[in-house]
Parts: sequence; C-alpha cells; structure tokens
Amino acid sequence: MEGSTAVRINVRGIVQGVGFRPFVYTLAMRNHLTGWVRNTSAGVEIEINGQPIEINSFYSDLKTNFPPLARIDHIDIHPIQTAPYPKFEILESQPNADDFIPVSPDRSICPDCQKELFDPANRRYRYPFINCTNCGPRFSIIKDIPYDRPKTTMANFPMCSQCQAEYDNPLDRRFHAQPTACPDCGPQIWFQVGSQSIAYREEALQTARHWLKQGKILAIKGLGGYHLACDASNPEAVIELRRRKKRSDKAFALMAFDLEAVKTHCHASAAEQAALLSNERPIVLLERRKGSRLAPEIAPGQKTLGFMLPYTPLHLLLLQPESGFPDALVMTSANLSEEPIAYQDEDAQQRLTPLADAFLMHNRPIHMRVDDSVIRINSGQRHIIRRARGFAPDPLRLPLEIESVLATGAELKNTFCLTRSNYAFLSHFIGDLENYETLQSFEEGIRHYERLFRITPQIIACDLHPNYLASRYARSRAQSENIPLVEVQHHHAHLAACLADNHRTVSNGDVIGVCLDGTGFGTDSAIWGGEFLTGGYRAYRRRLHLKYVPLPGGDAASRRPARMALAHLRAADIAWDLDLPPVQDLCAEERIALDSQLKLNINTLPTSSMGRLFDAASSLCGIRHTNTYEGQASIELEACVDPHETGFYPFDMQDDLIDPSPMWQALIENYRNRTPIPTLSARFHNSVAHMVVDSCKKIHQETGLKTVALSGGVWQNIYLFNHVQKWLASEGFNVLTHQETPTNDGCIALGQALIAAYSRMDLA
Ligand code: ZN
Ligand code: ZN
Ligand code: FE
Repeated sequence: MEGSTAVRINVRGIVQGVGFRPFVYTLAMRNHLTGWVRNTSAGVEIEINGQPIEINSFYSDLKTNFPPLARIDHIDIHPIQTAPYPKFEILESQPNADDFIPVSPDRSICPDCQKELFDPANRRYRYPFINCTNCGPRFSIIKDIPYDRPKTTMANFPMCSQCQAEYDNPLDRRFHAQPTACPDCGPQIWFQVGSQSIAYREEALQTARHWLKQGKILAIKGLGGYHLACDASNPEAVIELRRRKKRSDKAFALMAFDLEAVKTHCHASAAEQAALLSNERPIVLLERRKGSRLAPEIAPGQKTLGFMLPYTPLHLLLLQPESGFPDALVMTSANLSEEPIAYQDEDAQQRLTPLADAFLMHNRPIHMRVDDSVIRINSGQRHIIRRARGFAPDPLRLPLEIESVLATGAELKNTFCLTRSNYAFLSHFIGDLENYETLQSFEEGIRHYERLFRITPQIIACDLHPNYLASRYARSRAQSENIPLVEVQHHHAHLAACLADNHRTVSNGDVIGVCLDGTGFGTDSAIWGGEFLTGGYRAYRRRLHLKYVPLPGGDAASRRPARMALAHLRAADIAWDLDLPPVQDLCAEERIALDSQLKLNINTLPTSSMGRLFDAASSLCGIRHTNTYEGQASIELEACVDPHETGFYPFDMQDDLIDPSPMWQALIENYRNRTPIPTLSARFHNSVAHMVVDSCKKIHQETGLKTVALSGGVWQNIYLFNHVQKWLASEGFNVLTHQETPTNDGCIALGQALIAAYSRMDLA
C-alpha cells in the first residue's frame, strides 16, 4: 500500500469487559485499517496498519470516544516495522502471570438493556438478568483474571446458540459480554416460602410483588447480596422489619422505580438527581418532603431519606409502577444488626428465615458480597459515606509508586487497602469488625484482592490498638510470613488518607490535620478523637486536642450519651442538678455508681473524643440519651439545628488543650432560661466551628502552615463541615477534604498504607 505505515498502541486502565475491543474493531473498520487487537493481563494491545491520516483519526477517537464503562489510565503509541496485515481481527487473550489490570465495579443496567427489558418483541423481554458489555455484574461475580466467562460465577451457564452468536460478533453489543445470558440459557428466579419453592420466573416475580403489596417482608437476592424489602408506605411492615432486624432507629434505605417517584418523597437538586442516575447508582441522602406518605419509622429523628434507583433488571421489574403497588420499597441489607450482608444462599436462608416471610431467589452465585454505596451531595460537592458497589474495586491513583502494602484499616466501618505501584485498591466497605462473620468477610476479601490484582504485600500496616481484630490479623500475618509490620496511629492515618485522596506528595509540605471523630487509640493509651495535628505521611505532631475527660465504662460509654454528659459536667465542675436532662435520664442507682466510678477512676479511660463531646451536648440539650446506632445522638443534634442562629459559647484554649467547660456552663444557662433546642444546637455547633478555626489560627501562628486537612467521622456533620470550610477559607486557609474516600474510618486503611510505605522508604 502506497504511503502506508504501522503502529503499536498499548492501553492500560479499565479496558476489559467493557466493550473495548469491539470499539477498537469498529474504529479500525471505519478508518480502513488492518491489524489486530488483543487483551493482555496488563490491558489492551493494538497493532494497526494504514494511511497516516487514518491512523491519526483512529488514535484520537481511541483516546476520546471510548465506551462509557472504560477508563484509560495510560496510552502510548510507537511506529513499528511490519508487513501489511490482510485484515483487522480480534486475537485471543495473552495473559502474563505477573501483570494485573483493574477490574470493573458492578454496573447498573444501561439504557439499551432497559429498553429491551420492556420490549415485548425482544427475546429478553422481562428477563431479570439481561446485560451487555456496557452494564451488568462484574466485581461481584469475578473469581479471577483475565476476565473471561469461565472465571466468573456464570461458568455454569453454557450459552445457547443465539447468545453465543452475539458473544462472537464483534459488531454486537454483547460481543464478549461475559455475563450475557437469556431466558433459554441463563439464571432464573423463583419464589420460596420456607424451604419450598412455590413459583418460578414471571410468576415468582408477580408473587413477590403481591406479597410486598400485602405488607410482607421479603428477602431478595440481588447483585452483591440480599436485601430485606417491604412496602415503605406501610408503617406496620416497617415497624415489624425493625423488630425482626433488632434495629430500633437506624435509617433504612429505600428504592423507587424512577426519579419521579423519588421526587414525590424528597427534594432532589440537579446534582442529586445526577447522582441517583449515575452509573454507581448509590444510595443518596436527600431531604425529605414534608408531605411524604412514607412511614416515619423509616428514618426516625432524621430529616433525610436514603434513596436509590433500581440498578439491576430484577429491581426494575420488581418496582415497575402499577396502581396499588408501593412507589417505594425499603431495601435494607439483609442481615441482623451488626452482621455483614448475607450473600451465600445456604447461609442466607439460615440467617434470614427468622427475618423474612419469603424469599425471591435466583441461581447466579455471588462471589464477593458488596453492599450498596451511600453518598451525600452538599452544595454540589459529593461526600462518599460508604464506598462499595459501583465504586470498588476501582483503584485510587497514588501520586507516586510505592512498595506493595497491605493495610488492615480500622475497627468500625472497616475497609482494607492493598497497593501496587501507584494504585491503591481500597476495598469495598466491610463493616464493623466486631463479630466472626465480619472478620470472615474481611479475611476472604483480602485474599480475593491479593489474587485478583496479583499483589504480594511487602509491608503490612495496621492500627496501634492492641485488640482490634484487624490489627491482630495484621500482626499474626506479619509474623507468620515474616513481613515488616508498621503500626499507625489512627488520626495520623486520617491525616495521611486525606492527603493521598488529594494527590499530595511529601514535596507539597506539611499540613494542619483537623482529625475529629469518636475514637482512635492514642500513643499514650488514651482514646483520642478531638485532634489537631501537624505533619504529613512521614511524621506528625499532636499540637492541640480536647482536654481529657474520663470515659466511663470504656466503649460502652459511646452507647450512653447521658453518662458522657455527666462525665463532662464532672470534669467541668458542674453539679449534677436534677433539672438537667441527662441527670433525669439516669436513675439514682446509676448516678451513684457513675459517681464512684468517676471518683475512684474505675474502668475509665481518658478521652479527647469529639464524637463524645457531641454525644454529651445532645444529651444536655435533651435530645438523645442512649445511642442505638453509632453517631445517633450527634445526627439527631444536627437534624434540629437552627440554621439562622449565629451565637456561640465561650471555651478555653491554653497551651495544647481546648477546654469546653465554659461552653457547658453557658449551654446549661441557656437551657434553664428555656432557649429553644434548635438554638442550643446551633450555638453548640458554632462553638465547635470556632474551636476549629481558632485552633488552626493558633497553629498557623506557631508554624506558618496554611493548608488544613479535614478528616474523621465528625465531618459527616454537614452543618459543621460547611461552617468550618467557609470560615477557614475566609481566613486564607487552603482546605483539603475527602473526595474519593469517606471521611469516616473507611479511609483509614489508605492512610495506613501511605504512612507504612513512606516509613520504609526512609529506611532505604
Ligand atoms: Zn446493557
Ligand atoms: Zn441464551
Ligand atoms: Fe476515625
């Protein structure tokens, strides 16, 4: 061919299982190019031959018009010498044992599949497992890489000839769509009561809908686990679900068929609507509409509801609008309070039989359990609260290459993190590592990620805490495999996670870290949580913190804000007068016991926890004296804040201590002269915001640092977050906040990984 030339192109990123090769094929055809494309375990390789102008047009389309689920992290192009190819073809995969490629998260059903699902002329009409290269299950069904059908839980479903023809056709939307299936060859649903299956396929679906309409509670097998579902407008059903789940107050997630249905119950800004419709299909926390008919028991004491849209064809069919059918369902993770979401069929049936009236089942196995993700949109900015389905296992890109680290994370809201070169695979949300089931899914998860991404940790990082299950796992593995172990202080990990999330390197310099949360083990064995640090990945200094108060009864104190309030009053030398709400909440015996406990220092630990300061304030305002879930007292305190109130209470700052005693005095005075609770709540919040800003100014004066990183669960408080962010900015501070990771303990593993990697670099 006259003037023809040849190039080789390497692409890395999420380029497998997302329709990338058919896209390349079509592009090559359009530009009259010959050559080949193939998957490798590192990505995709292409060689093409043709006119330079057409190669250029091919290359520029390749970089910009790639399929919706693909992500290109790296691309390079080199001229090569080769004899012209006769045609363009897709070659077999070339796995290389040591390479790795990112695995796509599970993807919500695409518009094309949704159209086919409701098209009576389509052969997949109303088939609950319709998918294509642009959508469907990925991470939850993949057992190993390279991503091919035999390495997924679809291995046991041989394709029928029609599905196979689509699978083999480079111009078909289902070309190499590994989970593709149809009613003739794929998974099916059935409806089961006890151990008896009573309906199959469409009839199973209709039976499930009928039972839901009747106010029954169903266990529904989904994408990454089971849900418990019931009619969200039926208070008896919701109350019964709470009773069975042993979950008294924590909000239930909801699912509605479409945006219209969501908008009848909640306000949703353009950004919130986009988030609901986004590919990740997370649960989005939305402000509840006053007139919503949904049962108030769904989210007691809260102004928000957590809604998600259907993300699988099964969910769409289940929620299809029809007169008399609920327009919103409770869809809560199917577990007993505190246990991880159920995902294995036998285990689920055993654990869920007491919880559900019946089961809507299917026979596509779930390999990895993944919970629904939770986000919140705050003035256009996305806050990730739980990073799981749709996000994991997308790696975060680190600002530099580091050794492979396994970081085992925190105790609550656990995630772990594995790193490889400049990728950090922050795991999906695992849960609270307080019981055997969660520990098991933590250990399984680590093994799975190590295999999937071909990672052999060179360093193990964990929390300092002597008893955290995750830290014990880390210590025993480090010992048995002879891998160096780095123990990281919890709030230092928060600081480092926020830095990594903002792609900061050591050369960007130290920052002020305002790490506010409920609990983290300190280097002095106290419980830290109101921490103002300076430093970076390599080291930190504790500059200021909340003055210690005794935490009565250790961790149990976090369940009893009233006890915490009395501990704070005692530390502030304020009498336990009977008119104060927390004093009233505790009976005389409890107060006597608490009194001697505090006097004699029995079973108390000193704490600087900001979370416990919020608990104490909530109880003193008369809002909540007992937490039935983590953070409840402060969530309800924030829910009643008067947004127009600007007053605040005084506090003392001396040397490295912030003493809230004057604040309690003033708050109690306000309480006694019948200041409305929303005003009390706002003044308390404003006081904490002032504490933060004053502390940052003080540290700035001492160190010259002008960048502040905010991390820790307390920053999920939007009122506090917004005030502090605004005030710090107006004082000229550069404020770093979490972007791709949660500000709560879901970020800890990432911070641990970076700190551990840097500590080893310094030794080298
Ligand atoms: Zn699709
Ligand atoms: Zn088929
Ligand atoms: Fe924390």
